[in-house]
Amino acid sequence: MTTILVTGGTGLVGKAIEHIINTEPEGSRFGKKPGETWIFASSGDADLRDAAQTQALYDKYKPTHVIHLAALVGGLFKNMKYKLTFLRENILINDNILHASHVNQTQKVISCLSTCVFPDKVEYPLDEDKIHGGPPHESNFGYAHAKRMVDVQNHAYKEEFGCNFTSAIPTNVFGPYDNFDLEDSHVIPGLIHKCYLAKKNGTPFVVAGTGRPLRQFIYSYDLAKLFIWQLREYDDVEPVILSVGEDEEVSIKDVANAIVNAVGFEGHYSFDTSRADGQYRKPASNKKLLSLIGEFEFTPFEKALQETVEWFVANYDTART
Ligand code: NDP
Repeated sequence: MTTILVTGGTGLVGKAIEHIINTEPEGSRFGKKPGETWIFASSGDADLRDAAQTQALYDKYKPTHVIHLAALVGGLFKNMKYKLTFLRENILINDNILHASHVNQTQKVISCLSTCVFPDKVEYPLDEDKIHGGPPHESNFGYAHAKRMVDVQNHAYKEEFGCNFTSAIPTNVFGPYDNFDLEDSHVIPGLIHKCYLAKKNGTPFVVAGTGRPLRQFIYSYDLAKLFIWQLREYDDVEPVILSVGEDEEVSIKDVANAIVNAVGFEGHYSFDTSRADGQYRKPASNKKLLSLIGEFEFTPFEKALQETVEWFVANYDTART
């Protein structure tokens, strides 16, 4: 019997894994396998900052495998303002999960990092060998160092105890169940919400910045499949970047255009070039992923965005806004 515990199971990525496990054909590469039980835990099931609650969760479900997504996450403003809180709470959550996984003899753990673990001054594209090559960007160093430390812990657990702990590094994720808050969300859900309100209220849709920066976005349902692949088919401590290719970067302008189309917004639409743009591009390589997984078809960006907008509109009353 295999019991897979997904921490952060109620978030953007956790909900996507639940969706894929429940909708892909049973027994297929990404579908549920016979004998598998999947548990999607929220902070209500256990506050993972607390060691006793974490152990109680392991006592209850006895997971053989863990996909560890739970984290204190937030946009730039929150990260800049609460650096110690982001550092400390994420260190506590990660340490409790890895320690409980070790003492309860969990067979495998995949923890979720983020591309912000990479050094601020780095040669692009980012790849798995560059994580510890210099300090992360100063704006979110608390969050970034806590995440980086997971890779250090994974190596130490492997060397001292032979644990099968590893990590994944997704680029920017979007999809249903995202946080669509207007102030403290990532670019895609924030712009979807803004455009939706502009259409509803007959007001202009204004996008901050020039629209020129380029980013790699991964649809949460594609990312979910990659986590399931990593769980079943990848047994090495070194992290894997889970991303679309460098040639699939899209500009913020392309994102905004696609949102305007998907929302059906016909009003006045402009870019506020007085607002800061952020870094022009920070491409990450998915070469390692592709060399390992073989065939994988990413959902075209426009289609994924259309589905996300449809989900948001249909679930406006209950979505995180
Ligand atoms: P969400 O904010 O959507 O979800 C966070 C999840 O963590 C929720 O299920 C939440 O539970 C849970 N959680 C938060 N604090 C605690 C706690 N103290 N104890 C137990 N559970 C807790 O996050 P995402 O799905 O976007 O992110 C998942 C992972 O992916 C994170 O590790 C994040 O760092 C990483 N990531 C995300 C990216 C993105 O673009 N979104 C990009 C790269 C990495 P509850 O619902 O009860 O609050």
